[in-house]
Amino acid sequence: MRAKHFLCQPRNAMLAMLGSLLMTTVPAQAQDQPAPFRWGAASAAYQVEGAINADNRGRSIWDEYLDDKSLAGPGMSGATAINFYDRTQYLKDIALMKKLGLTSYRFSISWPRIIPDGVGPVNPAAVAHYRQFITDLKAAGIKPMLTLYHWDMPLSLARAGGWDNRASVDWFRHYAEVVFDNFHDQVDLYVLVNEPLVEHAMKLLAEQRMAGKPGQFAIVPASPDLPGALRTFNHLLLASAAAKQSFDARGYKGQLGLALPLFPTLTAPGASAADRDSATLADGIMNRWFLDAMYKGRYPADVLSAAQAVGGDMDIRADDAATIGKARFDYLGINYYAPLFIRRPSQASGAGYAAESFLPEGTYAAYNGPVRPDQFRALLNRIRTDYGNPPVYITENGAGFPDDDKKVKGGVPDVQRCKYLVEHIDAMHAAMKDGADVRGYHVWSSHDNLEWLFGYGSRFGIIHVDFNTQARTPKLSALVYSDIIKGKPVTTADCHAQ
Ligand code: BGC
Repeated sequence: MRAKHFLCQPRNAMLAMLGSLLMTTVPAQAQDQPAPFRWGAASAAYQVEGAINADNRGRSIWDEYLDDKSLAGPGMSGATAINFYDRTQYLKDIALMKKLGLTSYRFSISWPRIIPDGVGPVNPAAVAHYRQFITDLKAAGIKPMLTLYHWDMPLSLARAGGWDNRASVDWFRHYAEVVFDNFHDQVDLYVLVNEPLVEHAMKLLAEQRMAGKPGQFAIVPASPDLPGALRTFNHLLLASAAAKQSFDARGYKGQLGLALPLFPTLTAPGASAADRDSATLADGIMNRWFLDAMYKGRYPADVLSAAQAVGGDMDIRADDAATIGKARFDYLGINYYAPLFIRRPSQASGAGYAAESFLPEGTYAAYNGPVRPDQFRALLNRIRTDYGNPPVYITENGAGFPDDDKKVKGGVPDVQRCKYLVEHIDAMHAAMKDGADVRGYHVWSSHDNLEWLFGYGSRFGIIHVDFNTQARTPKLSALVYSDIIKGKPVTTADCHAQ
């Protein structure tokens, strides 16, 4: 594919440039200029920090999964990760990101560091650490996008049921208030929670492995799990709404949103009507469940009735969805990797909900699914047409491929990731031309890191990490991404090994 980045600078950046020209003559208007487009990368505390015992950190559910139970395999622990809690190390990483031209960094802070037991006293050492980190980031000209919760639930709260327990709404509200009070003077862009859907799937996989089974990673909830999944999603959405309410009530200035993993649902050629029904319902569960609540103040009726038919306590009260709608989140965070092909499982009995994802033969796919930039554009346009065109930040987009990250002559020619990024950024620009209100883009991930229950084997970074020596090497994808940020015309033809 040779599509050019004709829009060297995206629309908002061009408007901002125009704004700075106007500023000399009409200063009053300058204040209304949109902020420049944010070009960034993303990470999450548990995947990068290590130092799990430093500065009075409390234990998280992930310490239990990986360090105690070795659920990702021997040696796959978060104890060191990529050593990002260490200031000497992260200063070098910040310098590298600055050199690449990044203007935004999405990172998460760790709840069990800030409040070691989840709900009790605040840990001043952790607050000081993250304040220093943000100061260092901003000194390099990189704006922080702070995620409050990227799956590292304090262990004590996980033992009390985690998101399954409605009390989690109050636990999270309290934690969010602590974060806002301590960081509102430094940060104005927040991700409240990351990917409730994928976190839930990961938790079920962990539980299967704890029970001694290899387990299945099912992003599309299986029928018996549906009511439980919706229960946790409802609590997570209510918790986010409560946090937003607290932020607004305090009069702080900033933008708050959630990072949702949105998965367009496709059927393969020759799909039956039953397959198509399953795909519609899977779309309802993974996408509309969250979007309808946030932008329409209601849960989708087809999903509710499918879950009711399965039975089980969803703990959804009459006004929950309306409460979520009234929160009026400031932007939508989209994590896009791939669409999912959906079918009705052949062994499904009866007429009720049953859906599974699969990879049709011959599909070109990355670790996280089929490579389909066209679906990224379609998704952004769907958000524009069906949900009132809210401001959007791409909070994650990226890929990993087997054998794409080999070191060759001191470099890492990750040709497949490079092409993936060029094509997806192209698709985003096309959607922006269509009218989608995208304000920023974050590659997942800045660095190779700990891929949860899949350990260190699946790399997603644009910066290579040698997990033995902690040496960093910018990959080909990082260099090409840097060119895109700098406004150079780039095509997939630029993704070739030197
Ligand atoms: C998560 C990341 C994860 C990435 C790559 C997303 O689902 O937010 O934590 O590493 O995908 O699989």
